[in-house]
Amino acid sequence: MPDLQNLLDDIDRLDQQATKGPWESLGPNIESADYTKDDVVSTDVDCSTYCYGGIGRGIQGPKNAEFIALARTALPQLAEALRAALEWHQPFQWSFGYGPVTSCKGCADQGLRQEETTYPCPTVQAIHNALGGDDGD
Ligand SMILES: [Zn+2]
Repeated sequence: MPDLQNLLDDIDRLDQQATKGPWESLGPNIESADYTKDDVVSTDVDCSTYCYGGIGRGIQGPKNAEFIALARTALPQLAEALRAALEWHQPFQWSFGYGPVTSCKGCADQGLRQEETTYPCPTVQAIHNALGGDDGD
């Protein structure tokens, strides 16, 4: 399972470093959708005076280009939504007579019964399972 915090940090870092979004696909090319129209992916061939053009082998297929363009804005948005969900579903410890118990603060704040708030709660477990983990940490 990927380390979720590292994955979210990588998404944030790459979001800051990449050409600002949104992006749009124009056939096999991708450019920024703002006024700059900066090239993100281009299949233009620049061979100066040594040839007469050619074929760039960039992204194969306009649907792949659309997906990459959408990912530019969707991935940071999804990372932010995931961060918000995980901030809500934080673990906390409390004592229940026989010893410390780790529960989910978000689930407990919703008034769920104690046995329904054991951390990791179903929400946190579903996120980790979707990322390929099954150990709940
Ligand atoms: Zn929870």
